[in-house]
Amino acid sequence: MTLSYSTDIVVFGGGVAGLWLLNRLRNEGYGVILLESNTLGCGQTVASQGIIHGGLKYAMTGSLTGASNVIADMPARWRNSLQGSIEETFNIDLSNVRVTSDHYYMWSDTGMRSKLKAFLGSKSLIGRVRAVPESNYPSFLADAPAEGTLYRLPDFVIDSSSLIEILADHQPKGIYQTSPSTIEFLRDDSGSVTGTLIKTKNKTVRIATQRIIFCAGEGNQALIEKAALKTPQSQVRPLNMVYVKRPKLPMVFMHCIGSNFSLTPSLTITSHQDKMGITTWYLGGELAESGVTKGPTEQIHAAKKLIFSLFPWIEFDTATWGCFLINRAEANINNNYRPDDACLIEEKNVLVAWPTKLTLTPVLADKTIEMLHATSVKATDREHCAELDSLFNRPSIANAPWS
Ligand SMILES: Cc1cc2nc3c(=O)[nH]c(=O)nc-3n(C[C@H](O)[C@H](O)[C@H](O)COP(=O)(O)OP(=O)(O)OC[C@H]3O[C@@H](n4cnc5c(N)ncnc54)[C@H](O)[C@@H]3O)c2cc1C
Repeated sequence: MTLSYSTDIVVFGGGVAGLWLLNRLRNEGYGVILLESNTLGCGQTVASQGIIHGGLKYAMTGSLTGASNVIADMPARWRNSLQGSIEETFNIDLSNVRVTSDHYYMWSDTGMRSKLKAFLGSKSLIGRVRAVPESNYPSFLADAPAEGTLYRLPDFVIDSSSLIEILADHQPKGIYQTSPSTIEFLRDDSGSVTGTLIKTKNKTVRIATQRIIFCAGEGNQALIEKAALKTPQSQVRPLNMVYVKRPKLPMVFMHCIGSNFSLTPSLTITSHQDKMGITTWYLGGELAESGVTKGPTEQIHAAKKLIFSLFPWIEFDTATWGCFLINRAEANINNNYRPDDACLIEEKNVLVAWPTKLTLTPVLADKTIEMLHATSVKATDREHCAELDSLFNRPSIANAPWS
């Protein structure tokens, strides 16, 4: 038995990119369904540090190009939307998304003071980053020995699980869990993709579409191969992320600069609550990038060494430590070069999308809508197909890896 249905767009992947697009496209009047192979946000999104940043970290490492200065505007754009200012920003109400820290800080030890002063004094950064007087230090640094300089960045931190929850809550219909092995793509004589075929136990579901969008993070490469696309290619960048948790650990949100001669943050710390409400420090930055060849014991040892030297006044005797490997998935647009903007590539009616950073997801959605308009994809406001609800489950929200 076959169920035939048509809609404007099918989105693959229910991380931040797919769910964000589902919201934006439906607000534009497009009929859209979203297919997720696992749980919502389970790839990079729920494992992300949730920093909505203006690109300063990348400027410091010299990896930010002029072309992507768009990221500098992102914290202000997100802030508007988080305050419920729907019209001017993304057309998505994010007022219930949890902001875990309104500010993000950067700590530099005394050895880096003059280098950092020169860098922050450069034209493009004047006014964006301010040194914080000791009298205004956040509570987590109240007991710190005054051996460095603290800066406040325009960045802030959100709880990425709550972002996924809110984006999914706005769309109670049309999000389905499907196994990749049950899916095939339909094509016309020219090889262009015209839809999706999903085999369920009792029925084959044939969905005709104007466009298909891959937002599957690391899963994009397998989908690209399945759809036999030639142009879009993806790359992964592994990280060995560390977490440390204990009750009553102060909530810390800060890059730490200074254990080497570059301005690269040796450590990027965000704080979260695990499922039991226990404070968890989540440690990224250079520690995670250089730790990919280390086993768990060696990586946790490296993390302890850094943390004990940076926070000698905090007690970690009763803390629990852990680490895990995770890949960042990005477009491979120029021989493994690290992209610094959201990427969207179209071929044969398929759009392959990578936000590159959580922060840039709104830019990805802008680009997608622009591309759909430019290629005359019409919004036809299709009826919801209730039969799909009986054939597929709605995926649940992923747990954070430190939980
Ligand atoms: C450790 C870490 C920390 C980060 N911290 C930050 C940060 O602080 N700030 C920032 O801006 N960015 C950060 N990022 C980057 C950011 O998390 C990602 O750019 C963003 O989450 C990517 O979202 P996505 O929806 O494209 O992919 P993902 O979140 O990976 O979602 C992809 C989804 O597709 C699903 N899927 C896979 N294959 C298929 C298939 N065949 N069919 C259907 N569904 C499929 C997966 O199950 C998953 O749900 C971080 C990334 C990592 C890994």
